[in-house]
Amino acid sequence: MIKTIPLQNQNSWQDCLADLITDPKELLKILNLKPEQLDLSMDVLREFPLRLPRSFANRMQQGNPRDPLLLQVLPQQQELVDYPGFVSDPLAEQQFNPMPGILHKYAGRVLLMPTTSCAIHCRYCFRRHFPYTENRPDKKQWLDSLQYIRADSSLTEVILSGGDPLAISDKHLEWLLEHLAAIPHIQRVRIHTRFPVVIPQRITQQLCDLFTRYRLRFVMVLHTNHAQELDDEVKAACKRLKEANVDLFNQSVLLKSINDNAETLADLSERLFTCGVIPYYLHMLDKVKGSGHFEVSMQAARSIMTKLRAELPGYLVPTLVKEEAASANKTPIL
Ligand code: SF4
Repeated sequence: MIKTIPLQNQNSWQDCLADLITDPKELLKILNLKPEQLDLSMDVLREFPLRLPRSFANRMQQGNPRDPLLLQVLPQQQELVDYPGFVSDPLAEQQFNPMPGILHKYAGRVLLMPTTSCAIHCRYCFRRHFPYTENRPDKKQWLDSLQYIRADSSLTEVILSGGDPLAISDKHLEWLLEHLAAIPHIQRVRIHTRFPVVIPQRITQQLCDLFTRYRLRFVMVLHTNHAQELDDEVKAACKRLKEANVDLFNQSVLLKSINDNAETLADLSERLFTCGVIPYYLHMLDKVKGSGHFEVSMQAARSIMTKLRAELPGYLVPTLVKEEAASANKTPIL
């Protein structure tokens, strides 16, 4: 039996997480859609299950099988198609994984993965095949990771990624931030998260208070692909973060049939700005196995960017980038 909590009773973010939609059939029922209207696959769920917060599903349009939010999370038959060049670890991250829970690829920055879980599963995610089970550090391994950071004085920024780092409890986050603040060469903590967008209830006053407690500067990089994701609750969550002095940026992925035109991306930039968020990066899709149907060609991407630049002031135009396994930074596409 499917457990449901009416949306109005989902007071805490933990309630929201405990009541994710995990059955595609339930999602279809909520959206008044029939399976034959979609390219639904139940087979792909074994490897990468459906995880969808109800508040995010609420922003999808009823009866629309092409809804841009639905297509980001819908398990589809096309994931089983073998597209040439699409592999399990497109960024070869495992070679930069010196110990469990840590990735060290870029100069001056190190990435910590405090958790393996996310509030939502995005079907195009480049970490969908990452060996998370080998990257669940225990307390001793956490202390080793902190020692790794302490020992390298060239590091100034710690990036919390995942999974989604805001899936951990405030208590765990506090423990981590306290240790990071005690390392003199660390100036900034950057948090890559979808929580403010998919479960805005996560941005509690208690969490915001944590960001004002330490000498560290906090940067949050949200992940939004379409303006329809940004409702008034998300806007209010962003406001709380701004009041806690957190700098907000957004990164998107250029996704076929979801945001692959200048008009949609211009709307997204405008809406982000009204929420106090700077559009930062627009990523070309990472070629991860199972996501080939989302790919937008380089030529089409360039043409979209030309139109976008003609429509928007420069500060609202994200930088189109491509991540390459061997490169020491993201490659801007001019
Ligand atoms: S929230 Fe981020 S890490 Fe999690 S599935 Fe989506 S893109 Fe991947």
